[in-house]
Amino acid sequence: MSVEIVRIPVLDDNYVWLLHEPESGETVAIDPAVAGPVLAEAERRGWTIGQIWNTHWHGDHIGGNDAIKAATGARVSAPAAEAGKIPSLDVPLREGDSVRIGAVEGMVMEVPAHTAGHIAIHLPSEQAVFVGDTLFAMGCGRLFEGTPAQMYANMDRLAALPDATRVYCAHEYTQSNGRYALVAEPDNGAIRVRMEQVDAARARGEATVPTTVGLERETNPFMRAGSVEELARRRAAKDVFRG
Ligand SMILES: [Zn+2]
Repeated sequence: MSVEIVRIPVLDDNYVWLLHEPESGETVAIDPAVAGPVLAEAERRGWTIGQIWNTHWHGDHIGGNDAIKAATGARVSAPAAEAGKIPSLDVPLREGDSVRIGAVEGMVMEVPAHTAGHIAIHLPSEQAVFVGDTLFAMGCGRLFEGTPAQMYANMDRLAALPDATRVYCAHEYTQSNGRYALVAEPDNGAIRVRMEQVDAARARGEATVPTTVGLERETNPFMRAGSVEELARRRAAKDVFRG
């Protein structure tokens, strides 16, 4: 692994990811909800943000774009399908496109459902995937602009990545997702074991993200749904779940 990945917690439960590739000195901010803490973290490390990558248009993923761009001249790469909703966009991204940080390549996957143009970015050499609000630890994003069938296909694609792939989600939702996962799959011992670890980590104030593809394959009721219908049922149940 050559890219350094820094987690910056902002707002209530968002994570902005700051990537730095030491050979080229390049730095990328992924889904900067806000600018201040992201610029401050980069400055503290002596890094200059040269690019922003957005996974989708929601304000808590692009809110810092303009101010970071103004401060650093960063180039904004974001979903082509959401260009109208991301005014700061410089480089429109589509399925199969690649992005680069230094010599490290990221592959663009279109994963619509949470929003109509949502993308994920997979860095195979780093065994890392940045999934925005599509996949969460033991959860998936709400279906604001897409269908259960689309989310089912997204889960399939992400589950097909190597088990060791680290999954960088944009929110700390693990504990709430896990409470629902225990209800969705009461006989799944892996979920119970994981929740004990998650509860302990949260009690210590620690983050539970990134997760891994392998761990999600064992404990994520949305990735594990056996059919579109099952995913739809679980998503609808989670939408109103109060655990
Ligand atoms: Zn969102």
